[in-house]
Amino acid sequence: MNQSTDLETLQIYPQRRFKVYQHRQLDKIAPVQGLPESLRFAMRVVASVLPFRVNEYVINDLIDWQRVPEDPIFRLTFPQAKMLRPAAFERMAQLLRSGPSNEQVQQLAAQIRAQMNPHPAGQMSLNVPKQQGESLDGMQHKYKETLLFFPSQGQYCHSYCTFCFRWAQFVGRSLRFNSNDVAALHGYLSSHPEITDLLMTGGDPMVMRTEKLAQYLTPLLDSPSLAHVRSVRFGTKALTYWPYRFVTDEDADELLRLFERLVRAGKHVTVMAHLNHWREMETPIFEEAVRRIRATGANIRSQGPLLANINDSAEDWAQMWRRQVQLGIVPYYFFIERDTGPKHYFEVPLHRAYEIYRDAISQVSGLARTARGPSMSAGPGKVEIQGICEVAGEKVFVLRFLQARNPAWTYRPFFARYDTQAYWLDDLKPAFGEAQFFWQQEYEAMCAGSG
Ligand SMILES: *Cc1c(COP(=O)(O)O)cnc(C)c1O
Ligand code: SF4
Repeated sequence: MNQSTDLETLQIYPQRRFKVYQHRQLDKIAPVQGLPESLRFAMRVVASVLPFRVNEYVINDLIDWQRVPEDPIFRLTFPQAKMLRPAAFERMAQLLRSGPSNEQVQQLAAQIRAQMNPHPAGQMSLNVPKQQGESLDGMQHKYKETLLFFPSQGQYCHSYCTFCFRWAQFVGRSLRFNSNDVAALHGYLSSHPEITDLLMTGGDPMVMRTEKLAQYLTPLLDSPSLAHVRSVRFGTKALTYWPYRFVTDEDADELLRLFERLVRAGKHVTVMAHLNHWREMETPIFEEAVRRIRATGANIRSQGPLLANINDSAEDWAQMWRRQVQLGIVPYYFFIERDTGPKHYFEVPLHRAYEIYRDAISQVSGLARTARGPSMSAGPGKVEIQGICEVAGEKVFVLRFLQARNPAWTYRPFFARYDTQAYWLDDLKPAFGEAQFFWQQEYEAMCAGSG
């Protein structure tokens, strides 16, 4: 087999040092210094509340500074005034103009964050599994087959996305949940034979050293008590925020060998790549990262939300999916942006989301029609908008669960009243004058039971 780690590659792509800028270094970013002061002040205001972290590769190789502030990758990573509600923005702007103490800024920031629904969809209580009465904080086990694991060393990213639904864990310590317990992971997996999929997530697990990742994963290679875990997924945005992770970083080769070993041990390995725009997929180093990952026998699937101001056109999605298929990436999920953080800046009404999805799908070949959605990851499950139509004289959304908290709900169609002002599952009302959706009573009982 062709070694996936040949030296030729290293000659073409010299090593690059990872350099990152955070809130306090905003003004040190060279192209930012060329922007108007009003724009820079607005960025400082928003970055006092929401996470900000961006690395030099994103700044120099992905953002087109000629097109700022409209550039989609700029909006994906740099704070924009409208990401705060006007009242909140004004309060923070006034405070900053008054020469405040760090403590005053933190205090106001905490107040504003608390109004931005930091923990959507019962993340903190309902999904955290228990073992002998103890909460296992670094895991989520919501759907029977799949365990989400949040390694403690992977609770940040190479850059932060302005839309991220995990934003709350990137600011302030008390809000995080994670685990560094290798033994807890293996213990939980061993005692749950129904789990076939392990999903390593974060933040971004690819910020971790390969050596650390290996501590979690090598026991899967040969431990009989973990043989039921057939798939390992890595939720990551490193492919576009830091492709060097898979090409020239010191332990890049070691990482690829870990993938290879998992594949050879009979595991399905998938890199679940967060991809938001075709513009992220144009650099040679990105292509090389994709090529090298696939050379190990691992797959790459893609997922990402529909985002106003960034990718809310069918053409962008069609172009993105075509590019993915060309490179061997399988389009997987088309998400609706979650109801948290600066959602008002990114949200697209459900009927528009459905139109964009359908319009995009209709422009691509069957190979790209593997993208499922539009899907809302809500409390009761992943709800897909299957269509908009008229039934018995009433205009309705046709919905179904792609994943459900109770597996029995999966793929059962249900109907909601058509509503142009609906942005999320909570905004929807049952159609045909019914009082409740079929799953609602049972779901509410689950919520009450979890205390
Ligand atoms: C989406 C999701 C999964 C994975 O679902 P698949 O349909 O298998 O991709 C697992 N756990 C949670 C909490 C999720 O939101
Ligand atoms: S890479 Fe993923 S987890 Fe990290 S900020 Fe972006 S969306 Fe959030």
